[in-house]
Amino acid sequence: MAIADNLTRIRTAIDAACERAGRPASEVRLLPVSKTFGTDAILEAYAAGMRIFGENKVQEVVAKATELADHEDLQWAMIGHLQRNKARDVAACAAEFHALDSLRLAEALQNRLEALDRTLDVFIEVNSSGEDSKFGLPPAEVADLAAGLGSYDRLRPRGLMTIAARSDDRKVVEACFVRMTELRQRLRDDDKSTGSYEELSMGMSGDFELAIAHGATTVRVGTAIFGSRPALGPG
Ligand SMILES: *Cc1c(COP(=O)(O)O)cnc(C)c1O
Repeated sequence: MAIADNLTRIRTAIDAACERAGRPASEVRLLPVSKTFGTDAILEAYAAGMRIFGENKVQEVVAKATELADHEDLQWAMIGHLQRNKARDVAACAAEFHALDSLRLAEALQNRLEALDRTLDVFIEVNSSGEDSKFGLPPAEVADLAAGLGSYDRLRPRGLMTIAARSDDRKVVEACFVRMTELRQRLRDDDKSTGSYEELSMGMSGDFELAIAHGATTVRVGTAIFGSRPALGPG
């Protein structure tokens, strides 16, 4: 039961990071990221008590949701970039979407959710590092998107999401998390934004403890639970 052991180890590390930050452990949720791993691995984590899993590809989450449809309390969080023409699949099978980055996508999701009579918890993805390779909105554009989301009643805004800079320099990673905390504060102070924006979805296998020190409420952890994924592409 390596996966169960890993889950215990990560949860212990999360609790310790909360304690160091003077935060209650109940404030931080562990979202296991099961992308590229099969349903056998997901069921191992399910047996250990996990009920929601992060996936970043629409095709993959649809296939897994279909395969595991008899587990009625098992939910999916779509954490990857989404094209509008795939909005229907996410509306149909995800409970959470962590990569909202435009009103056009919000509208596509709203229409699909209405048709299915469902709702979707959403996080606005922010490019906190400024790296070209990253998805998400520049911080300066987040308030406008948040304000616009008020028109889409099927979307339930919960907060902001980011993937921090990939760097060995702790200061560079930390600056991303600090930007997110400041941005959340600005949203809370901003009358135009609807929803609560209480949550910060940030921190992965390599940086979740630092993210917790800066206010993360959901950490998305893949490798440290399920093992390493095959490298993408040549080289
Ligand atoms: C893959 C992925 C993760 C998990 O990354 P690990 O480094 O394996 O923990 C978290 N968030 C997103 C958006 C991802 O795509």
